[in-house]
This record gives sequence, C-alpha cells and structure tokens, in this order.
Amino acid sequence: KLYNQVQDLKGSIRVYCRVRPFLPGQSSPSTVGSIDEGNITIVTPSKSGKEGRKTFSFNKVFGPSATQDEVFLDTQPLIRSVLDGYNVCIFAYGQTGSGKTYTMSGPKNMTEQTQGVNYRALGDLFKLAEQRKGTLIYDIAVQMIEIYNEQVRDLLVNDGLNKRLEIRNNSQNGFNVPDASLVRVASTMDVMELMNVGQKNRAVGATALNDRSSRSHSCLTVHVQGRDLTSGTILRGCMHLVDLAGSERVDKSEVTGERLKEAQHINKSLSALGDVIASLAQKNAHVPYRNSKLTQLLQDSLGGQAKTLMFVHISPESDAVGETISTLKFAERVS
Ligand code: ADP
Ligand code: MG
Repeated sequence: KLYNQVQDLKGSIRVYCRVRPFLPGQSSPSTVGSIDEGNITIVTPSKSGKEGRKTFSFNKVFGPSATQDEVFLDTQPLIRSVLDGYNVCIFAYGQTGSGKTYTMSGPKNMTEQTQGVNYRALGDLFKLAEQRKGTLIYDIAVQMIEIYNEQVRDLLVNDGLNKRLEIRNNSQNGFNVPDASLVRVASTMDVMELMNVGQKNRAVGATALNDRSSRSHSCLTVHVQGRDLTSGTILRGCMHLVDLAGSERVDKSEVTGERLKEAQHINKSLSALGDVIASLAQKNAHVPYRNSKLTQLLQDSLGGQAKTLMFVHISPESDAVGETISTLKFAERVS
C-alpha cells in the first residue's frame, strides 16, 4: 500500500514486467530464475560455466502463466480515470517476439479469454460510460496511427501510408494529430472492426523481408469527452495504447541501407521515450519531449496529471538473454 502511494507521488508511472511462455515446440531452460511479486531474477550464463544472477524490481511481474485477465486487472483503474478527464498512456515495450502485440491486442486466433488490453480497455470505457449516463453523456472516438522512420501516418485510411501527418502540441481539444481520421465508436465491435482496418493498412506497407509491424510504433488513441448534464461542464480525457517497435539492437556491421535507417530511428525514439519517462520519474524540471515524434505525440499525456503504465516484455529463451537484460535495464531506469 505504502509502496503504491510512493509510486503515485513519483508522477504515476507504473512499470510491469511480463514474461512470455515458451511457444509450442520450444524447450530450453528459461532465463527466468525466479519471480517474487515485483522482483524477477534472471540467470545469465557465463563463459566459464558459472551462472550469474541479476534481480530487477518493478511494480509487478507477471510470469509466463499469467492470463490476459490477470494482466488487465491492474490496468482497470486507469480506464476509470480517463472518464474522469485524465490522460493515460499504456505502452508495450520489448524485443520482437516477446509478446507486445499479444498483451495489447491478443493472439491471431483470438477468443474472448485471450483479448488484449485494447479491447478490454474499450469494453470497460463503454460499460462505465453507460453506468454514468444519468449524469454525464460521453462521446468516444478513436484514431489509429503509426510512427515509422519518424513519420506519422494514418492507419484508418487506405492510402494513409503515403501521407505524412503533422503533430500539433498543446491543442485545446487534445487532438495532437488533427489530420488523422477520427472515428466515433459506440461498441467493442466497432473498435474491433477499426483495428482490423488499421492492421490491414499496416500490412500493406510490409514486404516479406520487412515486417513493418515490428519496426514501427502503432498508437490507438481514444478520445473521451463527457458533458455533465446538470452543469454543462465538459470533461476531456484521452488514452493512448501504444505497441512499440521492437527494442532489439541490430548489429551495425550486418545491416545497411533501409534496415539500418529503420534501426536508427527506432533506437532514437525508444531512447527519447526512456529519457522522458526517466526525467518525469526523477521530477526533473526539464523534460526532453522534443527529441522524437513519439514523445511529441504523447507530450500532454506524459507527466503532469497524466498516468503512465508500461508493460515490459521479455522472452524466456536463453539465446535472448542479452536483449532480456537490456530490456530490464531500460525498464528499471524508467520506474
Ligand atoms: P511482439 O509483438 O512483441 O513481436 P507477439 O505478441 O507477436 O510479439 O508474440 C510472439 C508470439 O508469442 C505470438 O505467436 C504470440 O501469440 C505468442 N505469445 C506472446 N505472449 C504470449 C502469452 N502470454 N501467452 C501465449 N502466447 C504468447
Ligand atoms: Mg508485435
């Protein structure tokens, strides 16, 4: 309890670690030695054959058997705060294949049980809005964009990948990408349809060799406006649900051209995000929002009264241990 209060004082930044289970057909000793509430211990092999152990601490650690339901439980209070007029950012961070999309959206063949945070969050928003309708009338609309090579594109129009969009900060109504399609939604079904459109448009930009989804950030933004029926007061909140580009480092000696450019852009924007969250956590006077499109886009939803939640994903395989350690170091720095 006290720990949570301290966390709240630190600007409402919460970091949860999630460990992906081994996939069917895979088996090897896990790099995860133990999980105990918020602590996770990683076993690192060493050349001399002697194992090393490193422990990292977070608000919570979800082991490989955690369900989507359990993972969402702690996110639920944030959803309520969006309807109260707060801004919220939820991020999925981790190397490609560690489970970011699984957490945010769900697996390819999704069932109700395996629906990710996005659907559950929207489902809760609709449910809570319905419960409040005697006193407040809510209007809910979504945008879906991607940031690829530091360019912002609309995922809800067919030719959106060809058009670059501008970010405008401190707009009065909170629409930071005013030219991106804004679509009113009234049910989880509406949202599912839109997300399918977004995913299809995203796939258009991908070639066989270039799985774009792991090299771009995708952001589903939910704008909520509530009108108080007695006072006429307007409340505005928004929630950004961000599936980040894969955090893996590429070997500069092995990639060139387009691939190297992508890697440099990803690297730059993920470090910019890390710098912003770390300086918010440390209550620094200067927060370097301007260093990437991602942090510019989210500027009014990071810091201030806004609430941030980051799900940091790791893979259990021993050949991923290097990335696992650097992921956990990144996460510890921002928490
Ligand atoms: P990322 O988006 O980080 O690249 P994915 O979410 O696509 O990773 O996950 C990689 C694979 O692992 C997918 O087949 C996904 O369904 C599976 N997977 C990820 N997390 C889990 C989990 N918690 N439980 C079961 N399968 C998972
Ligand atoms: Mg993914």
